[in-house]
Amino acid sequence: MHTPEGFTPSHVSPATLPEDTLAFAFRETKLLVGGPDAAPVVPTLARIESMRISGSVQYLGDLDGTACVALALPDDAAEPDDWRYAGLRSLFFRLPEALLAIAARAFQIVEWDRTHRYCGRCGTPTADKPGERAKECPACGYVAFPRVTPAMMVLVTRGREVLLARAPRFPPGMFSALAGFVEPGETIEDCIRREVREEVGIEVSNITYFASQSWAFPHSLMIAYTAQYAGGELKPDENEIAEARWFAWDAVPDLPPSISISRRLIEATVARLGKDATLLE
Ligand SMILES: [Zn+2]
Repeated sequence: MHTPEGFTPSHVSPATLPEDTLAFAFRETKLLVGGPDAAPVVPTLARIESMRISGSVQYLGDLDGTACVALALPDDAAEPDDWRYAGLRSLFFRLPEALLAIAARAFQIVEWDRTHRYCGRCGTPTADKPGERAKECPACGYVAFPRVTPAMMVLVTRGREVLLARAPRFPPGMFSALAGFVEPGETIEDCIRREVREEVGIEVSNITYFASQSWAFPHSLMIAYTAQYAGGELKPDENEIAEARWFAWDAVPDLPPSISISRRLIEATVARLGKDATLLE
């Protein structure tokens, strides 16, 4: 997911929020939506107020002139008639893409709002820091910003083959590129070399940026690359990888859904390999 066209992010709320402000209200990890299952709608702030539910508000910005806020509802917030709480993944391909992207952004802000009510250093209740998306401790001055966790994804190629792997949690038959979280002290390139070595036992070179994607489960920035095989025997780590294999560019197995960057990375790469006559089989 990414910043939708027409959306201007801001943490500075207008003095009064208009009645038609869109409210992305989360109870625990689920978003309050109405309308039919196939075409869910996001309530306005006025509608939420009429339902007599409320929570901590964070301003998100403006989508084509309509203000958008995130609301952290209490865990025991009521479920009003004709409305329901839905997991974000269940809204993929149902909620319009721009609203889904803002909902994913709201989800991360709400998670941060909810988990930074107290100072992590001294335990004093925090307050929103004026002028910034931050929580500040009035006692010790500690400032906490929303957390974004960088992770890498890499598709390793060897001639016209790509290396795909299955995590034990994947649906049967589905393969994807390798991925892992960046550790303190690492560059992304360090992380790629380490994860590839740990997960499948090989070395890579020519690490090349592909694209990135915000992923709200719970607060990742997935940064995708390709790399070339540079040596070693495939030896999958049994804890993280159920199976890892080389696939010919024109014979890839089931892939993750098209909303994920892994699908785009794999499809773009096999298309490139297929066209490249200089590569040996
Ligand atoms: Zn403190």
